[in-house]
Amino acid sequence: MSQTAQGSGTVVFQRRREFLPYAMPSIGEEEIAEVADSMRSGWITTGPKVAQFEEDFARYTGCVDAVSVNSCTAGLQIALAVFGVGPGDEVIVPALTFCATANVVVHTGARPVIVDVDATGNMDVQAASRAITPKTKALMPVHFAGQPADVDALYKLAGQHGLAVIEDAAHAVGAVHRGQKLASRAYFDSCNPATVPAAVVFSFYANKNMTTAEGGMIVFADERRSDQARMLRLHGMSIDAWKRYSGSGSWYYEVEAAGFKCNLTDIAAAIGIHQLRKLDTFTAARKALAKHYDAELSGIAEIAPPTRIPQRDHVYHLYTIAVDNARVSRNRLIEELRERNIGTSVHFIPIHSHPFYAATYGYRAGDFPVAESHYARTISLPLYPAMSKADTGYVIAALRDSLPYAGR
Ligand SMILES: *Cc1c(COP(=O)(O)O)cnc(C)c1O
Repeated sequence: MSQTAQGSGTVVFQRRREFLPYAMPSIGEEEIAEVADSMRSGWITTGPKVAQFEEDFARYTGCVDAVSVNSCTAGLQIALAVFGVGPGDEVIVPALTFCATANVVVHTGARPVIVDVDATGNMDVQAASRAITPKTKALMPVHFAGQPADVDALYKLAGQHGLAVIEDAAHAVGAVHRGQKLASRAYFDSCNPATVPAAVVFSFYANKNMTTAEGGMIVFADERRSDQARMLRLHGMSIDAWKRYSGSGSWYYEVEAAGFKCNLTDIAAAIGIHQLRKLDTFTAARKALAKHYDAELSGIAEIAPPTRIPQRDHVYHLYTIAVDNARVSRNRLIEELRERNIGTSVHFIPIHSHPFYAATYGYRAGDFPVAESHYARTISLPLYPAMSKADTGYVIAALRDSLPYAGR
């Protein structure tokens, strides 16, 4: 134990020697052997393992087809292209997200229109509604930290205004909304009755809930869009390279669009095949650690656990606490935790406060008060499947030990 209760009732905090990072991938021997198999096979880029990973992912998710790409960012970019978003259009994005969500909109020539978030950190539906103009083409909600956004209301809004929905599900692989797994057939049937054009895009970046080092997956509500996405991910060529070079293919291809180059490699898919098999175990571990944090944090007045909503299964990509700004300096608390050998992070610096977005679109401090307040108070505590309950216990003990030094 990191905390030793002594006879007098005082508690002595002992600093751990090993640094506890805020995130870490869990890679096993299965992944390593599968990568080695690709390396030895003579086929290292998009090929049989990508095909298998896509099939496995579709089966796991309960969707008809899944299109892999080399990042979630690329997947969002392709979804925007498939839905025809371009110059003169507007796309609504939440203020509290990673820059990728907004950057991809800029690349299409459209304008990212930032809106505020609610208490959960997800897109505020009323704010999104108010931001719709005749130029609006799509909504891009983010499932912040791994808790699904209010997709029922967002799809309804999209249906009323003829918009597409592109879900940035970078944090939410495996999450369940009202009993339906995100991106499953049943999910779209339940939250998208108006069948608006829609896609859910996942990330397999190194620190996400499952990884391929770099990678992503797109699932369209209408799977007939998948072929266009497959064409766009590889230069806009009519058939993919694996089929051309394998026994069944021919040398001939046609370029149907000025496509991108963001296909997933077989080496990455080799990792993903095994990560996917472990995903439910990873998620269960994340949930158990989050529960431990919840229980222990309830005894600390200066800190609030994340806000959760029933029927929106939180898969805890992040465990985000909020400190009471009146009593605690968030930045000092981060430093105190670092001195106690604990890594943390902050999710996210609101999009509108980055110099590019402020200068290009004229956003200012105060424009999105809920996102700004979240940013000022939040800390992401260490959370990953290989952590033990003793580790979360250590973080809690370190928080208690740090708070007296982080007061305002
Ligand atoms: C990580 C992340 C992305 C980008 O994912 P990549 O796979 O690294 O491109 C996009 N949106 C959010 C909210 C993220 O956290």
